[in-house]
Amino acid sequence: MTKTITDDKPRIHFDCTKCPAFCCSIYERVQVTKRDISRLAKHFGVTVESAIKRYTKMHSGERVLRRTHDELFDADACMFLDREKRGCTIYHARPAICREYPARSRCSYYDVLRFERQQQDDENVLPLFQITFRQAKKDVQRDDKGEKVWKWEEGKGGRRKAKG
Ligand code: SF4
Ligand code: SF4
Repeated sequence: MTKTITDDKPRIHFDCTKCPAFCCSIYERVQVTKRDISRLAKHFGVTVESAIKRYTKMHSGERVLRRTHDELFDADACMFLDREKRGCTIYHARPAICREYPARSRCSYYDVLRFERQQQDDENVLPLFQITFRQAKKDVQRDDKGEKVWKWEEGKGGRRKAKG
């Protein structure tokens, strides 16, 4: 008798326990919804108003988690990141956006981390990332031989960071 093995579980190719929590550090905006704030308030046993004041702030028109200095990257990181253990201190109360991230089977930061550590043969190497965005308009044009090519024109807009 043949046995069919079915395994629908997605393969995960990253391990957050071996990562210094890039995603909690490099994104300036970790957006929170009303539901996220209610969860935070319940977790800390405070009122919603108090949770809003203590744990969130406005950034570019969005309500986001507050950040504090992180020595490892010499920059600000999420206030709920444990600076020593590099893990989330409110894991069960973390916002939806953190639960979903990276929403695919690979994490590009983890891939670079592994790649660099293998390349350098040094498990302590810490690649640094900066996320910047630039708006650009895509246009189809023809090259000298009449072949179709993509042309990118820089549009307006600046730099922003966003988680998710
Ligand atoms: S950057 Fe990727 S591997 Fe690192 S903690 Fe975030 S999701 Fe996990
Ligand atoms: S709430 Fe937790 S998982 Fe989300 S960014 Fe902050 S430390 Fe990371």
